[in-house]
Amino acid sequence: MDYRRLGRTDEKISMISLGTEYLIDLPEDHVIKVIRRALDAGINYFDLFWAKPEFRDIMGKAFERARRNVLLAAHLGSTHQDGQYKAVRNIEKSSLFFEDFLTRYRTNYADVLFLHNSDGREDYDEIMKPGGLKDLALDYKASGKAKYIGFSGHTVDTAMEAVKSGIIDVLMFPINIAGHAVPRKQELLRACMEHDVGLIAMKIFAGGKLLDKWNSMEIPGHLVGGKERKLERSGNLSPVAGIHYVLSQPAVTAVVPGCRDIPELERDLAYLGCSAGEKDYSAALKDIRQFEEGECVYCNHCLPCPQSIDIGPVIRSLETSNREAYAALTVPATECVECGECESRCPFGVEVIPKMQQAAALFG
Ligand code: SF4
Ligand code: SF4
Repeated sequence: MDYRRLGRTDEKISMISLGTEYLIDLPEDHVIKVIRRALDAGINYFDLFWAKPEFRDIMGKAFERARRNVLLAAHLGSTHQDGQYKAVRNIEKSSLFFEDFLTRYRTNYADVLFLHNSDGREDYDEIMKPGGLKDLALDYKASGKAKYIGFSGHTVDTAMEAVKSGIIDVLMFPINIAGHAVPRKQELLRACMEHDVGLIAMKIFAGGKLLDKWNSMEIPGHLVGGKERKLERSGNLSPVAGIHYVLSQPAVTAVVPGCRDIPELERDLAYLGCSAGEKDYSAALKDIRQFEEGECVYCNHCLPCPQSIDIGPVIRSLETSNREAYAALTVPATECVECGECESRCPFGVEVIPKMQQAAALFG
């Protein structure tokens, strides 16, 4: 494993680190095996945004005896209510779920405490206002319950402001080859360097889409924002090339790919032994088009749904025509009442309601 300095924190973290979002709801022994393999491979930074109590209990066991050797990243404002993930700005609830994090992870501090998933001016102002989530995070830092403060989001403008605020030590932001030409992204990367803010790259495969769908599936044209758009196949993008693109970007400290099992983890770890030729992403970059608004990356930031629809997996099932995965979901897309709450929360401008309609028509 290779390690990089996490901005001004001076911590050294593994450049292949781990997002844990795909381990939710998997059996305890499976999850523990994946985490132990990651630890054995030298991974020492873990992003832990899920607040589901049972998941935290399992992860707490997985990190037993390893706590001193790893950096755990918690998210302030990520909660679990009525059986679903929910991002909140309420101080009491945020505090309750962070204290719960410490208890269930059997620790008395988080290494990085992220101001969770903030996009848009209004939300940013809410978080940063006096007495808001930012002040709560600063209190936790002062008390020693958080070593460093982070900011996670998907919007260049607000991420840039957070970086320049001088408050945050770490930024978590989507970086992938398909987003190469996102306006002002390079400016954001430069700002991270100037302010010595560590950059954790998330969504490096755009929810797996860059690897699976683009390379292996026929994708029919469909409507986005009322306009027909045809998704084209990209050139061959291997996981190794995709990772190398991200790790080659200025300011990026580490990637946090998610994995469901050990083979997926090994796929990402294989990067470490690859040749320069295998890492070459130039052909894919030439071929790939701008990653457009409206593309679901299955992140579930649009939850909660009043009908308890697990939106990301429904869309993934639809887009991969995976009837089996759809059948395993608790609530079908037919339950969608078209309230539009999810669309207002999606940071990627996905039109969820038509997706629910398509899933209902396809799978029943
Ligand atoms: S609709 Fe948006 S927020 Fe919901 S899973 Fe897809 S990309 Fe994520
Ligand atoms: S529009 Fe449908 S999927 Fe979205 S939150 Fe409302 S009921 Fe749930």
